[in-house]
Amino acid sequence: MAVYRANGIVLRRTNFGETDRILTLYTREHGRLSAIAKGSRRPVSRLAAATELFNYGRYLLATGRNLDVVTQSETRESFPNIRNDIHRIAYSTYIVELVNGVVEDRDPNYELFDTILSCLYLLEGGVDPEIVTRSFELQLMMISGYRPHLESCARCGAPPPKEKIGFSPSVGGVVCENCGDLPEDTIPIHRQTLDMMAKLLTAEPAEIRDLRMSNGIRVEMANVMRWYIRYRLERELKSSEFIQALKSGANK
Ligand SMILES: [Zn+2]
Repeated sequence: MAVYRANGIVLRRTNFGETDRILTLYTREHGRLSAIAKGSRRPVSRLAAATELFNYGRYLLATGRNLDVVTQSETRESFPNIRNDIHRIAYSTYIVELVNGVVEDRDPNYELFDTILSCLYLLEGGVDPEIVTRSFELQLMMISGYRPHLESCARCGAPPPKEKIGFSPSVGGVVCENCGDLPEDTIPIHRQTLDMMAKLLTAEPAEIRDLRMSNGIRVEMANVMRWYIRYRLERELKSSEFIQALKSGANK
């Protein structure tokens, strides 16, 4: 069997057989891959820690006939603070599910890998999980070639009006009324939300740590990003609904 190394993050894990787990890893070197961690559900297993969700580690893998096999692993970060907080788990789950929904197997992307890792470290460090998640969504859209057009009208290039700004997922950004009827999917958006989105598109991790968002901006940006991602991915992500459920639960 050919053996290879990879730095990976656990996106998913499923129980298999009596004591095994099948992992979905997003690796820096090989992109997404599935591998079996034999015996990893035994309490004494040396592989147990490396099969935890979000675990970031070095994996030694062997090419199998059907499925590759995790032969050794070394955890570099297990993200204990994320694991101990139901909100952080929910947002981190959403991030890894989003990744799982957009990537293809064995199609590495260093930029995406580093962005996921940087977001997990921000969440681990106690940074506002909603801001981290919105930043991740925008980075992901940018890396996927869907950077939203925010600086001017995406149709005519005119500066966006001071009031009554609209964002159209199908057009891919801000639209104005001067160049035609607003598309049916236009979502009203305030200037402050637009400015925050523009800031998040270029913000370094250290800057994200210091950002503050009003409730109004949070609600509006979550809505715009939800529809934009939905338009691009053409399906609703399960854990996005999970977060909505969690929020409505918290408001009761
Ligand atoms: Zn226009």
